[in-house]
Amino acid sequence: MSVFSTSLFTDVDFERDGKQTGRVSLPYSVTRSAYGVIPIPIAVVKNGEGPTVLLMAGNHGDEYEGQIALGNLIRTLDPASLAGRAIILPSANLPAARAGQRVSPLDQANLNRVFPADPAHGPTHEIADWIENHLMPMADIFVDLHSGGGSLDYVPFVSVSLIGEPEQDKQAYALMRAFGGPYGHLWDASDAKLTTGGSRTAGGAAQRQGCIELGGEFGGGAIVNTDHLYLVERGVRNLLAQAGVTPNVAVEPSGTMRLMASDAAEHFSFAPDYGVFVPAAGLGDEVQSGDLAGTVHNLEHPEREPLAVHFRASGLLICVRAIGRVEPGDCLGHLAVDTDEPKF
Ligand SMILES: [Zn+2]
Repeated sequence: MSVFSTSLFTDVDFERDGKQTGRVSLPYSVTRSAYGVIPIPIAVVKNGEGPTVLLMAGNHGDEYEGQIALGNLIRTLDPASLAGRAIILPSANLPAARAGQRVSPLDQANLNRVFPADPAHGPTHEIADWIENHLMPMADIFVDLHSGGGSLDYVPFVSVSLIGEPEQDKQAYALMRAFGGPYGHLWDASDAKLTTGGSRTAGGAAQRQGCIELGGEFGGGAIVNTDHLYLVERGVRNLLAQAGVTPNVAVEPSGTMRLMASDAAEHFSFAPDYGVFVPAAGLGDEVQSGDLAGTVHNLEHPEREPLAVHFRASGLLICVRAIGRVEPGDCLGHLAVDTDEPKF
């Protein structure tokens, strides 16, 4: 491959058996590096024929449990244990990961909002285009591992998108149950918008490319929660086993899973003004509609009464803001409600 390439290229061979670690090179020509590339880590672990699982983290650079778990997986996954292929992209938006930011410092773009991407729009779009049009078409199953990042903190949950196709949804749901964890979140992706380009996320891209699509949130606050890291590592091992990629590995029991959903606008709370948010409920609390979510305090005008924010629905507080300072419109948290086991 020429060093003058203007589009992404890689040194791994997706068809070769064994374990390969390499880079996806994103050409990035700047003053200090005329022919430079951004070397995004990638690994391919393959043995014979079987399903392909594409495992991704670092979609947002300030979310670490998935990035660390996939790095650990790259070092420990034995190709001899496979019947199929794992493609592992642990820090998908490497410029954002280097900076510890949600968005890329190169173009201020959020990778999870630019699909389907036009590579002419900058490096983040180039990465998205390559993921959707080079990696996802090889994959049967796509997993995108998130946390709340610097601004949010989440209870740990694995999620799955159900598209309204019974056979595929049954398999997708079984993968989520095998992944395990205290919470499982169901997304209703049967809306046609998701499969015709309405979704700007990597999950939407995976659905367009015909993949079973799972995700999850495993903490936040831009720290590494070691309990959640364990959940991700066990979950990914279990998912590979359930998918048949590691057919001789048993799915490790992970206890009960509480099934949740959260797709209504009233599940979300937002800051009404500038100030400092003092929460009245904590992560994992059960709250009722009308309960006090917290108060926004004006540091310039301590004589003013703080503004009260109330929950607009009842449910489990699965996400809270991880930064005290708020501006109007900042998400303060969101709720999920219990949902029944799906019927296929
Ligand atoms: Zn994220």
